Amino acid sequence: MLHKIINLTVRDVRFPTSLEQHGSDAMHSDPDYSAAYVVLDTDCGLKGFGLTFTLGKGTEIVVCAVKALAGLVVGKSLQEIVSNFRGFYRLLTSDGQMRWLGPEKGVIHLATAAVLNAVWDLWARAEGKPLWKLLVDMVSHRLFRPSIYAPGSDLEGNMSSRMCQSRIQSGLCRASTSDTSPTCSQRMKLWVRQLYDVQYTSSTVQEKKSLLSVGSEPADSSCFSSIFRHTCESAGGQAAERGSDAEGGLPGVHHLLCLARIPRPAAQTDALKSGWTKFKVKVGADLEDDVRRCRLIRQMIGPNNTLMIDANQRWDVDEAISWVSKLAEVKPLWIEEPTSPDDILGHATIAKALAPLGIGVATGEQCHNRVMFKQLLQASALQFVQIDSCRLGSVNENLAVLLMAHKFQVPVCPHAGGVGLCELVQHLILFDYICVSANLSNRMCEYVDHLHEHFANPVVIQDAHYMPPKDPGYSCEMLESSVKRHQFPEGDVWKLHQNK
Ligand SMILES: [Mg+2]
Repeated sequence: MLHKIINLTVRDVRFPTSLEQHGSDAMHSDPDYSAAYVVLDTDCGLKGFGLTFTLGKGTEIVVCAVKALAGLVVGKSLQEIVSNFRGFYRLLTSDGQMRWLGPEKGVIHLATAAVLNAVWDLWARAEGKPLWKLLVDMVSHRLFRPSIYAPGSDLEGNMSSRMCQSRIQSGLCRASTSDTSPTCSQRMKLWVRQLYDVQYTSSTVQEKKSLLSVGSEPADSSCFSSIFRHTCESAGGQAAERGSDAEGGLPGVHHLLCLARIPRPAAQTDALKSGWTKFKVKVGADLEDDVRRCRLIRQMIGPNNTLMIDANQRWDVDEAISWVSKLAEVKPLWIEEPTSPDDILGHATIAKALAPLGIGVATGEQCHNRVMFKQLLQASALQFVQIDSCRLGSVNENLAVLLMAHKFQVPVCPHAGGVGLCELVQHLILFDYICVSANLSNRMCEYVDHLHEHFANPVVIQDAHYMPPKDPGYSCEMLESSVKRHQFPEGDVWKLHQNK
């Protein structure tokens, strides 16, 4: 069946998360987690669902951009698209007039991500597989081709990515005959048995949020019984901080901006008991307060668990070096987004300065495209690659970055959270582990424990682990009832706010 695409609809779906300052950080004080939500209809009745993530205002601009791309999609068959996926990617990103809006960056690229995510979802549904399995099977059946991932990243050129390609095609991922690491198929079985180790900390009742990272357990004798370990942070606003104080929790954090707060001891203890090993803290507004909070959290989690800090682009380069150096005593694994996401050489300068302190640089959630990732890698400007499923050009571009990161032996630790990002990115990190990196060392992913209830196939967390998605598709179908209620501005949720 050809699955001809006969219609594309896109809707502006917003969740009023700013009311409780969920997701706020040093630079984004009042985000309403939102999505430009795309549905593709086909002539056989099968649908594809996709989205890109935004912070509220401006989602209508992304919706306009998706509508501008719709004419390039409607009328094509799925078979036509995937038989030359690279060509289709080029078609979307290289329209003679619309590429001026990017190219491959900003609103038009967010729109591209939403459309392509829907196409990938459609493809996986047509094959009756979750997306990660579709990709893995392509490798297993030697169908994985450069024509699948995005062009122009020098993957086939001077970066010797033929080696990567050969590796991924082989499905063996063994460096030598003495390499006893599991094969691709063995890793798949391991993954299916047990995946991410997930941890979250909750704070007050009115604000409960987590940002979670994944890392690896110390390898045991079987080496790959280790699993992805996640951490999260609690982040909240001033009101919640005061609420925590009133409840007798640890001292709240009083910021000019809404930054991380310290989880209450009970929540923290629960998290540690549940196996959490890594914790991330927002920093960047007040150095003295950052030192105080980071010391407290280090004290709570002990010396053997991992602490990371995230500045959300708050500093200039010199300021970043100075600030993070003063936090070195708490031994953070990384500083995330220390400065402007566009400042590649600035990141390199920061990374070089902090290396002697054992602190790496992590970035990528606002990295425009694979070309910037290439330069970040070439400049040794980051030690952790944080791909984003909705900012890059969908799976196509993320595959290119996974391969480049593997070439440079830099761990991929996807950005997630928001709305739908966890649902999407779990497929990519699964594929990365099974078919590309074959490595769990220092690998992390993020997780936020809210808004999953709006998805038809939300992430499944079991015993502090992500479980592999089993349903066909890319896990980005939202419940129609949720979409209707949250559609901006006519949904009931927003009408209610307008009437207040
Ligand atoms: Mg971040």
